[in-house]
Formats: sequence, structure tokens, C-alpha cells
Amino acid sequence: MTHFHVITLFPDSLSSYLGESILKRAILDKKIKVSFYNPRDFVKDPHDRVDQKPYGGGPGMVIQAGPVIRAIAKAKGRKKKVKIIFFSPAGKQFDTAYAKKISKTYKDIIFVCGRYEGIDARVKEVFNTEDISVGPYVLTGGELPAMILIDSISRQIEGVLGDFDSLEETRSASSDVYTRPEILVYKKKTYKVPEVLLSGHHKKIEEWRKGV
Ligand code: SAM
Repeated sequence: MTHFHVITLFPDSLSSYLGESILKRAILDKKIKVSFYNPRDFVKDPHDRVDQKPYGGGPGMVIQAGPVIRAIAKAKGRKKKVKIIFFSPAGKQFDTAYAKKISKTYKDIIFVCGRYEGIDARVKEVFNTEDISVGPYVLTGGELPAMILIDSISRQIEGVLGDFDSLEETRSASSDVYTRPEILVYKKKTYKVPEVLLSGHHKKIEEWRKGV
């Protein structure tokens, strides 16, 4: 089983996606497990805020290192082989090759989700982390990136995709797919399925899918 540990101030933001379809089944089948650690639960003084003004000035708030370090330490426990991913728009671009590599190498993966102006960078001095980006844009938090990685890595784990759900990443298929009806009518216009897909000619269908 692959265990994803998510360090986040907003654990509820992930629950609906995890509670549906393939990921829900993967959790029930014990192929994956997702645990949450909220830095707010790791502040030393209950009156202390987890976010503070940045040193050097500037807008927004920065999440303190201490509560995040303690949350990561809790997730890590005594485990020796753990991957710690620190989400950042400036990090290495995530892709399927990375998902494959991570799924094969690690059973425990910790995701550190930032918010506001980010997390005090000293967290990265305490632990061996890797900065990962999900794309060249800035999101409000690391929760969507965590969800993207959980989804993509889980697809690479044997038994997560059922008979109906094939690993599309291994095919060089066209992304256009069709199903019933054969002729779709919308506002008096008709839209047909490409004829080759109805031909039963497997070689031609494959060629069409590869764009040959
Ligand atoms: N100025 C901050 C920076 O460059 O890191 C922006 C912080 S952003 C508003 C808040 C958090 O969202 C980041 O700390 C990171 O965890 C996450 N985030 C935003 N965009 C991301 C992206 N494209 N890939 C990965 N994480 C992202």
C-alpha cells in the first residue's frame, strides 16, 4: 500500500475528490491511504498564530516553520525511506515520468502544502525535500497540487485502475473518444462518429488513433 501524508491547513478541501470513483475504490481496496496533518495542531502555544508577517517586509503572511516541521516529523515517524515533496510554483515540473518513478520507489510520500505567501524556507533545511510545481501558474494553495499528484501516482499503482479504466499514459492514443448515439443531433445539426471507428477494422482504427 502507498501511504500519502498531506501537511495542510485545509484538510477538508481534499475529501470530496478522494471520496469518489477510482480513488475511493483504491482507498477501500487498501491500495492507497491518505492521512492529514494540520500545522495548526502542532503550534506550541494554542494562542499562537500559524502564519506570521514576513521578515524583510512584503505583502501577505508566511506559515511558520516550527508547526510544519513538527507535522512532517509526525508523518515521517521512524520510517527510513520517505519522499518529502514541497509544493512551489518555482519547483520542478511534475509529469507522468515523475509519477511513475515515485510510485515505484516510495511507499510513504509526504506532501507539504503551502498557503498565503508560502512556508518559512527553513523547513527545507531540516528535511531532505524536493520542490515540485504542477504548472507555470500560481494557485492559492498546495492542496490542488497534492490532489494532482495523489491521482497521477495512484494510477501507476498496480490494481488501482480496474478493467474499465486503462492506463492511457501507456498508449499513444488520440484523446478524442466517442460513444452512443452514432448520430448526435443538436439544434437541428447532426454530428457523426468518425466512420473508421465503426468499420471494425482494428489496424485502421489504431492508425486513426495514432494520427497516421
Ligand atoms: N509567492 C509564493 C511562491 O512563489 O511560492 C506563492 C505562494 S502560493 C499563493 C501558495 C502556495 O500554493 C505555495 O506555497 C505552494 O505550496 C502552492 N502553489 C501555488 N502554485 C503552485 C504550483 N503551480 N505548483 C505547486 N504548488 C503551487
